Amino acid sequence: MNSFLNLIGGEWVPGTSTTPDINPSDLDDVIGEHANASREQVADAIAAARRAFPSWSRSTTQVRADLLSRIANELFARKDEFGELLAREEGKTRAEAIGEVARAANIFRYFAGEAVRIEGERMASVRPGVSVEITREAVGVVGVITPWNFPIAIPAWKIAPALAFGNTVVFKPAELTPAIACALGEIIARADLPVGVFNLVMGPGAQVGQALIDGVDAVTFTGSVKVGRDVVRRAAERMIRVQAEMGGKNPLVVLDDADLKVAVDCAVDGAFIQTGQRCTASSRLIVTDGIHDRFVEAVVARCRSLVIDNALKTGTQVGPVVDERQLEKNLGYIEIGASEGATAATKGERLERKTRGYYLSPTLFTDTNNAMRINREEIFGPVATVIRTRDYDEALAIANDTEFGLSAGICTTSQKHARHFQDNIESGLSMLNLPTAGLDYHVPFGGRKGSSFGPREQGRYAAEFYTIVKTSYLAV
Ligand code: NAD
Repeated sequence: MNSFLNLIGGEWVPGTSTTPDINPSDLDDVIGEHANASREQVADAIAAARRAFPSWSRSTTQVRADLLSRIANELFARKDEFGELLAREEGKTRAEAIGEVARAANIFRYFAGEAVRIEGERMASVRPGVSVEITREAVGVVGVITPWNFPIAIPAWKIAPALAFGNTVVFKPAELTPAIACALGEIIARADLPVGVFNLVMGPGAQVGQALIDGVDAVTFTGSVKVGRDVVRRAAERMIRVQAEMGGKNPLVVLDDADLKVAVDCAVDGAFIQTGQRCTASSRLIVTDGIHDRFVEAVVARCRSLVIDNALKTGTQVGPVVDERQLEKNLGYIEIGASEGATAATKGERLERKTRGYYLSPTLFTDTNNAMRINREEIFGPVATVIRTRDYDEALAIANDTEFGLSAGICTTSQKHARHFQDNIESGLSMLNLPTAGLDYHVPFGGRKGSSFGPREQGRYAAEFYTIVKTSYLAV
């Protein structure tokens, strides 16, 4: 049996109990078991990171750049092996999983470059004989709390900038994906990192996550809105920096003048690929009258042709739902949609495959309105709705009528509407004739309204969270 252990102060140690790690494509396949850290062990990990901070934060940027490059190189070299592990553990297809590992490698490579590009400014003072310098310093011990749906890319886009800018890290991955978290942890630990600079603690969020927030200098969280709000509140009580990226109810607007094929590709990709388990998934398809019926017919046909099977099987386009709890949640929302009066143009059902797994076919609800729960609450599965609208203005108003604001897209050939949408959609990400999911790794990422709290992640904007600005006045 594989044991996934905690890494505390340079030692791999067991916790106080273990939890099995099950393959959602094959429930008879136990990948291993992960250690659950105690509150004391979390405190030990924070203490180790704190001891390592003074020398790490003063290490040369070349040392940090070299280290991040080594991590990137090993991830690139082992992307097939890690991709297979990720697909087996989380349930996205092998190709998606290999792509995610390559993305993590690119992120480490990108931040290796950023480590040697840390910027400052020198400005003239308004007083004679004085000059002003603005510099950036590391924040301290950063707690990293991540979800299961991108279990190597999201940790990478938090851990890489944290280390690049001189912070030390305590990483708490999601309970459902400990194997890939440990695989990443082993690579980071092997890259000649001083003891304590990087630590890994596993276990339930309510115990391990909270103990982390109680001791670190900054916390970066990605996950659900409910937990995110709690994390932000607790961090505010301690007056520490906090960044939270949370859920979405992302609209894809399809106008009469859209290229039908482009619109259908965007909708199917955005709503159902990766089993709809993406924070940027297109869960509300807002479609104008003139194209509505053709669009629905084409999306339903594509849904019926999707190959849903074991994530590791060649030819699979959609893998299983991640676990039983999420499957029950999805089935619950399918019932809620029916009870709210929506029509299931195609209704999700549990599927039997050669291996026992959490397979669910896609659901597309039509005849929905934006007040229904299926249009207001994040489902996080292969369930999407269609909202029929009169025109662009009504579509935009519906798109913005949500507590979320992560990603949004429009399919149109009208430059006027495309530009107006980009300028007026209340979301952190805006897509034109592209799925709402699918992002570059070198530009800022994040949402608005209930989807996001704190500075942006990724790209040059990551420096806002992982550094503190100091303004120095010098008599010259
Ligand atoms: P979740 O909120 O249940 O858990 C996320 C992490 O928080 C896990 O590591 C969990 O153990 C931890 N946690 C749970 N309770 C905690 C607590 N009380 N204190 C501290 N930590 C706690 O989310 P999930 O089910 O793992 O992931 C799915 C959610 O993540 C969806 O809502 C999805 O939209 C969101 N997500 C957002 C983004 C984004 O960048 N906006 C990206 C991916 C996923």
